[in-house]
Amino acid sequence: MASQPSTYTYSGSCHCRSVNFTFKFPMPLTSTLVTNCNCTLCTKNGTLNICRLKKDISIQGEEKLASYVRSDTGCVHLFCSGCGSSMFTTRDGDLEMYMNVRMVDDVDLEALRYRKHDGRSVQFWMNVEGRG
Ligand SMILES: [Zn+2]
Repeated sequence: MASQPSTYTYSGSCHCRSVNFTFKFPMPLTSTLVTNCNCTLCTKNGTLNICRLKKDISIQGEEKLASYVRSDTGCVHLFCSGCGSSMFTTRDGDLEMYMNVRMVDDVDLEALRYRKHDGRSVQFWMNVEGRG
């Protein structure tokens, strides 16, 4: 019987490929629940999020990221200044970062499982333990 790898490595980028990233995930992305948040910004941008510790995400081209800080939540949304792709969300001082799974290379959105998150009602959402 073939043994399963203990971590899975994924890569991704923005649309213009100025910003690239890699991260390890403890399971195949198809085995986790991706957060489909109904907050006003996720709705506008269409982001579908998974959560990792910042230290476990390697970003190349980080200087191309621009930020939009929500005045109501303090969340920092990072997007590519070249093509506008919405890539990451975090807050100053947080250990976690939320990644837009749409940016993962060759992602099959139809193959993923989702959980709804009521971000319009709840100030902040998920954590690494929740395997967001
Ligand atoms: Zn870009």
